[in-house]
Order: sequence, then C-alpha cells, then structure tokens
Amino acid sequence: MRKKIVAGNWKMNNDFNQAISLVNELKRMDTFKDVSVMISPAFPFLKTALDLLENSNIEVISQNVHQNQKGAFTGEISVEMLKSIGVNKTIIGHSERRAYFNENDSVLLEKVTLALSNNLDVIFCFGEELLDRKSNNHFQVVKNQLQNTVLNLDKHLWSKIVLAYEPVWAIGTGETATPEQAQEMHEFIRKCILESYDKTTSENVSILYGGSVKPSNANEIFIKKDVDGGLIGGASLDAKDFHLIIKANSSL
Ligand code: PEP
Repeated sequence: MRKKIVAGNWKMNNDFNQAISLVNELKRMDTFKDVSVMISPAFPFLKTALDLLENSNIEVISQNVHQNQKGAFTGEISVEMLKSIGVNKTIIGHSERRAYFNENDSVLLEKVTLALSNNLDVIFCFGEELLDRKSNNHFQVVKNQLQNTVLNLDKHLWSKIVLAYEPVWAIGTGETATPEQAQEMHEFIRKCILESYDKTTSENVSILYGGSVKPSNANEIFIKKDVDGGLIGGASLDAKDFHLIIKANSSL
C-alpha cells in the first residue's frame, strides 16, 4: 500500500530563529499515524531541525542537491554532505529550480540517479506551464518530463521515489488545480508508469499534488483516489495551516 505524505517546501524563507520556532511549534502538534510528514528548511538550518526533531515523526528533507559527487562547484551542496548530517531525502526538479537555475531534464536525471545510488530518496517534481494547459498539451508535456527523467530508472529504485505533480500555473499563485484536474493527471501519470514498468510499480508510488494547497481546499484534493498527499509551499510556513493540511490527508 502506498504512503500518504504531506511535505512542506519552505523555499528561501525563515531566518534561524523563525525556523526554530516553526519546528518547535510543529513538534508540539498532534500526529496522525497514517500520514508521513516532511519539512525542508534551508540548508543552514537542516542540522538544527534534525536535532530538534530527533524523536518526532517529522522527517527533515533537503530542497535540492547537486548532480556531481564533489569538487569545484562553489555554493553547491552534495549528496554526501546531506547524508553526513542525517538527511535521507531530497526534493529534485522543483519548477523554481527549472525556471531560475536552468535545470533541464538531463541535469535532473543526473541528480536523481546520483541521489538514489547514494540512498538519498527523492521527491521528484514536474508539471506543465499555463500555456501547455491552455493549448491542451499538458498530458504530453508531463509525459515527456517523465520519459526524459524518472522513467529511465531501474524498477527497483521506484521504492525510493515519490512524485510531485505541480502545475507551474498553480504554484504560489493562489490558483489551484481543481480536484478533477489533479485526479485526471495523477491517473495519467500512473498509466505512464504502468506502460514503462508494471502494475505493482505504478500502484505503489505515492503521487503528491502541489500548487496553492491550503486548509480550505486540501481535503477535496486529497480525497481523490490517485492523490496521495501534497507538496506544500506557502501554507507550510504557518504551523496551524500546515497541521490542518496534514489532518486533511488523514483517514483517522
Ligand atoms: C511549491 O512550491 O512546491 C508549492 C506547491 O508552493 P505553493 O503551495 O505556495 O503553491
């Protein structure tokens, strides 16, 4: 059975004190056994967050990682660095990385491959832009993104991957995909995985939706049968809102 997940993408927000307060607030809140919760503070605060959350069920993950093992890449963070402080999962392929840092499918496949071969699990993000949807090209765009990246991986690696479908037009815009739009795309994604692998692989991968999820719309999206949770940006910076979104994904 696949996991229900709610992951917070903090992006480049919160200074040290704000990050610690948010971590402590989340730590005090009730937990739901059927939902895995993850947060991704900025790099300088990962180790502090890990220490504070040591005996909690909140996992601390990275927002990004470099595609090379080590070397002269000023300002970058390696898989080994993350693993050495106890981070075991990273987001890769967020639309902001694609748009502002020119990360294309080929670089993203290098990142995913290096991360997985070093036991750094991956939340892999992808999704179409507004123009793609307006021209009714969104299914093809998503299929291409998958075919150029994760659909090239060995089948056994799929137990270490979570997918996050994030239509670019819905990220940080306040505009959310309708539950029906999310469901039909998630179902399509599972079909693409089925075509490349098998039913077990396509049924077992968790597929998260991301794009302006809030406490007010989380439930109607999460209830859809192929939506296993959410990657949450803005609303993950508010402990109460994030907690309500986690609760919305729980069946308990
Ligand atoms: C994101 O950045 O992954 C995201 C979904 O952001 P927001 O929830 O703010 O739209």
